[in-house]
Amino acid sequence: VGAGFAGLYMLHNAHGLGLRAEVIERGDGVGGTWYWNRYPGARCDVPSMEYSFGFDHQLEQEWEWTEKYATQAEILAYVEHVADRFDLRADITLSTTVEACRFDDSTGRWVVTASDGVTRVARFVVMATGCLSAANVPDIEGRDGFAGRTFHTGRWPHEGVDFSGRRVAVIGTGSSAVQSIPFIAAEADQVSVFQRTATWAVPAHNEPLDLAAVAEIKADYANWRQKARDSSSAFGGYYPRREVSALDADEAELAEQYDERWEVGGLSFLRAYNDLLLDERANATAAAYIRGKIAELVDDPETAALLSPDTIVGCKRLCVDTDYYATFNRPNVRLIDVSSDPIERIDAAGPVVGGMLHEVDDIVFATGFDAMTGALERIAIEGRRGRPLRDAWSAGPVTYLGLQVAGFPNLFTITGPGSPSVLTNMIASIEQHVEWITDAIVALDAGGFRTIEPADEAQDRWVGYVNEI
Ligand code: NAP
Repeated sequence: VGAGFAGLYMLHNAHGLGLRAEVIERGDGVGGTWYWNRYPGARCDVPSMEYSFGFDHQLEQEWEWTEKYATQAEILAYVEHVADRFDLRADITLSTTVEACRFDDSTGRWVVTASDGVTRVARFVVMATGCLSAANVPDIEGRDGFAGRTFHTGRWPHEGVDFSGRRVAVIGTGSSAVQSIPFIAAEADQVSVFQRTATWAVPAHNEPLDLAAVAEIKADYANWRQKARDSSSAFGGYYPRREVSALDADEAELAEQYDERWEVGGLSFLRAYNDLLLDERANATAAAYIRGKIAELVDDPETAALLSPDTIVGCKRLCVDTDYYATFNRPNVRLIDVSSDPIERIDAAGPVVGGMLHEVDDIVFATGFDAMTGALERIAIEGRRGRPLRDAWSAGPVTYLGLQVAGFPNLFTITGPGSPSVLTNMIASIEQHVEWITDAIVALDAGGFRTIEPADEAQDRWVGYVNEI
């Protein structure tokens, strides 16, 4: 289910095993995340040389990325290329939503029903539905009565949106907002950003790829991919983690190291020291540095203070920006703090905060997703004896390796809850899971078994391990 990176690679492997397989996809094209998220400025924050499939030598040698961080359009073109190159399209059914998957105890098969009215019966069901695919549009009173246009970053119109001459509200300040606000501000008359929690951002310093550097990586790609698989975030070939504690560095060393990482740009900032994500005092040194940068970059001290987070850097995934903070120096951009005083309601003319109406023509919901479980829980999944997945997860999602759920035989969740997933380079994590599922199917058949599912104890152990981390 799903024709993003995960579904396509799974289909390719199913073909390799000689299985009959079908991918069912809600969108009218392949690409998943990169099909839906077309908001202005959308790019990946993992370098393109690493955010790409490593399973096929010819593919990785022949494909040419043009920038250090690929745009949404370039990644979508890559996914399309993969679908064509590996002859996947014939087994992909587009514009079709899977509604229910029910395990039939008597036959040991899954019965899958979908919006096209066709019932499919399958031995295996692989949920390649993504971690961040079910859009979250907050249920603010009056939302549907707003007179202007509304958009969600993860459901962006394919034809693009013209904001010129418009007054725009952007709700949210996560990665999608951080990437899109500078673009919207460059076009619109006025932009009001509604911030509930300030976000940490480090500069991308995106640039065209240097051909010589690309050739060097390609000559050593197998080694790069292996290093990615061996690292906790599944990437980091450019600037690996320094195995030094921030607590052993004096002020001058900290400044020098953080300056260097700031200049390099991107998520490697968090790899400046090995304890930034393990020790609160170490983390505080990075936080102090970024707050200092925000104070330098933002002219108005009050706005700079509001933009400065008081949270752990990198606990929520760090944002990678191009001109985000500086955008608040533009005369047409305002920051509205909704941390203690939330958006009360949305009037026909715009959002109301603290009794004050902010009149706008358009509202952009950069409000994220029903993350990790949303896409799965929107499908009626029933395992053994008709037990709904929602029941199994009523106290929170439980899985084994993030890949399977006890009581749901032969159902797999690629990058499911309880796996590293969004804390990593997703493509590497997807490849690992798809290869695990492929191996499991081979092992089942070799051993003459019909189904595979985790034992309750194994699942409990895994959940305990994840919670401990
Ligand atoms: P997000 O990180 O969940 O951000 C949603 C934002 O909306 C937050 O600032 C949230 O505030 C705010 N919000 C939600 N409901 C609200 C309400 N009722 N009132 C006011 N504010 C509200 O979503 P996202 O930016 O789409 O990013 C999701 C994930 O996608 C990221 O963590 C990242 O993993 C990935 N992503 C990656 C890239 C990239 O590769 N460059 C780009 C975009 C997204 P609170 O923080 O207070 O909840």
